[in-house]
Amino acid sequence: MTKLLIVESPAKAKTIGKYLGSEYKVVASVGHVRDLPKSNKKAINLDGFVPHYEVSAGKEKILHEIGKLAKKSDEVLLATDPDREGEAIAWHIKEAVDFGRKPVQRVVFHEITKDAVMEALEHPRDIDENLRRAQEARRVLDRLVGYDLSGIIWKKVRYGLSAGRVQSPALRILVEREREIKAFKPERYFTITAETKTSKKAELPLVCSVEPAVEREAERIVVVGKREPWNVVSVEETEARRSPRAPFTTSTLQQTASTRLGFSPSRTMRVAQKLYEAGLITYMRTDSTTISKQAIGQIAGAIEKTFGRELVLVRVFTTKSKNAQEAHEAIRPTNVFTRIAGHTPEEKKLYSLIWARTTASQMKDARVMRTKILANTTSRSIPDFQANGSRTIFQGWLEADPDARGEDVELPKVAQDDKLELINISALEKFTEPPSRYSEAGLVRELEKRGIGRPSTYASIIKTLEDREYVTKENRNLRPTDTGEVVSGFLEDNFGKYISDTFTAEMEDKLDYIAEGKIGYEKTLSDFYKPFGRDVKSKEKLAKATTLGSADPKMKCPKCNGVMIIKLGRSGKFLSCSKYPDCDGSLLIDGTETPKDKIIGIHPNTGREITLKNGKYGPYVEMVMSEEIKNEETKKSKKSKKQKLRRASVPKEIKPEEVTLDQAVHFLSLPRELGQHPETGKIISGNIGRFGPYIVHDGDFRSLKKPDDVYSIDLNRAMEILKEPKKKRSFTRRKKE
Ligand SMILES: [Zn+2]
Repeated sequence: MTKLLIVESPAKAKTIGKYLGSEYKVVASVGHVRDLPKSNKKAINLDGFVPHYEVSAGKEKILHEIGKLAKKSDEVLLATDPDREGEAIAWHIKEAVDFGRKPVQRVVFHEITKDAVMEALEHPRDIDENLRRAQEARRVLDRLVGYDLSGIIWKKVRYGLSAGRVQSPALRILVEREREIKAFKPERYFTITAETKTSKKAELPLVCSVEPAVEREAERIVVVGKREPWNVVSVEETEARRSPRAPFTTSTLQQTASTRLGFSPSRTMRVAQKLYEAGLITYMRTDSTTISKQAIGQIAGAIEKTFGRELVLVRVFTTKSKNAQEAHEAIRPTNVFTRIAGHTPEEKKLYSLIWARTTASQMKDARVMRTKILANTTSRSIPDFQANGSRTIFQGWLEADPDARGEDVELPKVAQDDKLELINISALEKFTEPPSRYSEAGLVRELEKRGIGRPSTYASIIKTLEDREYVTKENRNLRPTDTGEVVSGFLEDNFGKYISDTFTAEMEDKLDYIAEGKIGYEKTLSDFYKPFGRDVKSKEKLAKATTLGSADPKMKCPKCNGVMIIKLGRSGKFLSCSKYPDCDGSLLIDGTETPKDKIIGIHPNTGREITLKNGKYGPYVEMVMSEEIKNEETKKSKKSKKQKLRRASVPKEIKPEEVTLDQAVHFLSLPRELGQHPETGKIISGNIGRFGPYIVHDGDFRSLKKPDDVYSIDLNRAMEILKEPKKKRSFTRRKKE
């Protein structure tokens, strides 16, 4: 009897392979095997919302291999990850491979340990149709909304922009905060500090408990403070408890890894996945804080061994999660006796964080003594001044998570009515600060709070906003770009309901209900899509949002001295002559001159002049390939121009004014032919487009990320990239680019 066990990742296959006997053959599907085709029109049949799937590029071979192995086995087991996406992958494999009449079953485990895998193999089941349907609904919904909203933004705002069902509400949250910041009016106030000494000459710094807004009051407090003798009004000691926080969910892991380790949410997920696949932690996509009874027993044992029995306190954390069916556990080490694990430094750091949080969650409260000293002058005609101290008197769970400790602030010993010697008192003028921008961790917390997105989507939402250049990171905070603000503004004005918190959260709930089998797939989608489709259609009549308003009337067109308006270009807002296209005068948004065309030199091979220009989509170099168009002043259609001109974008990391002739020649070497694809015989080429460098083979576009370089990438590496599963949530590029 031989069994074929299918998982999605080679690393997971390797870990499981170690546990199973020779009757099992473990094979990896390497991610998704089928997806919606890129041509959106035929992707979904709106009658019944039936998606049309295609085998993903490079997956034919893997599916063929799985089929061959299945023929040699008596039974097939689908052991993809324990969530909806895993359920969907299992279903796709079952659909795409002809398993004949062989039994095909699903097994589920939340950690890749021998016990958990063996236990799961004892309880195989059928594919859960509700779970995989819920995943399908998400995919179809996101495709429809993304396609329709992006389409209308292309037409009404600017070509190439995108919008998404969950991405756009997240962007709106960031843009709303930005508006609050812009509208913020700082208010003046004064903090008053008094440096004092006790009778034993110990320093006791005090702060006035009131922060007056009026300067005269601040001055009065200082004057009285200087004139009168000081003494201690009261000393209050209170004991406070600090309880450990619940074990990690996806969202709290992303937040804590961001604040403590500086990891972005997507990095945290990538590292956590490696730990999971190596069998070191439980599944990393979860919104449950529950820990299994068995694991709690183990954790208590580990605490006893490391810190002593008196620190153990078994706690039960309740979960807000509504999905009983997917009631995962919290993220915890699979073996808490292992204190350090992982291959790379980042894996080790994340593992330690998970270890500390898990262990601390089953330990006693820490106890802190807080001291509050109030002091005043003898007349007490000014507000009390205060000093706050704290010291940990019992470490409790902080033993396991010392980074959570915080610093003790020791205050000198004083008693009521003790005299204090004033050294100095002064008032400092301050202004209230605007609300701060969201950090990545802060946005994850906000999304979870508002019910937008799910554990599997937080990281990709943020990554999409960054990849789309709707936000930039500034001191680890997310700041919307001009483009982000314009896109969000357009959506808020025209599709406010669909990108609202309530609508998005309700839709997530509906997807949960589909997973639970409480509501149907088709009805849910049609209830949504009929009104949505109508609303999108009604907006087709909107005028193109060509302008973002009038410019400061002092700004005049540099060419015709006419009125300027604000427009959105590739690199943000700029000022354009209101007579465009009759006059193409433009200025940067601050009113300074737009960089002029500059001749860089002569191309050594073609003998043609290379010019640096500044276009809608940023700076680029251009080489005129034929004379007739150079002498022609009339406007040509883009197509005929393209045949006569060679153009290449200046990469973002290079300042346009510093482009040398060598660099320009280098840029113009694009598009590069890398060679023929051995299977299709079609050419693979590399180029830089509006969304950055990419390679393309037969309409299959793949973005290039560092360290891959479009100028030097070779055919072998390009083949590797094309074989990788396509990123799920990226919006597909149109072929015509
Ligand atoms: Zn003009």
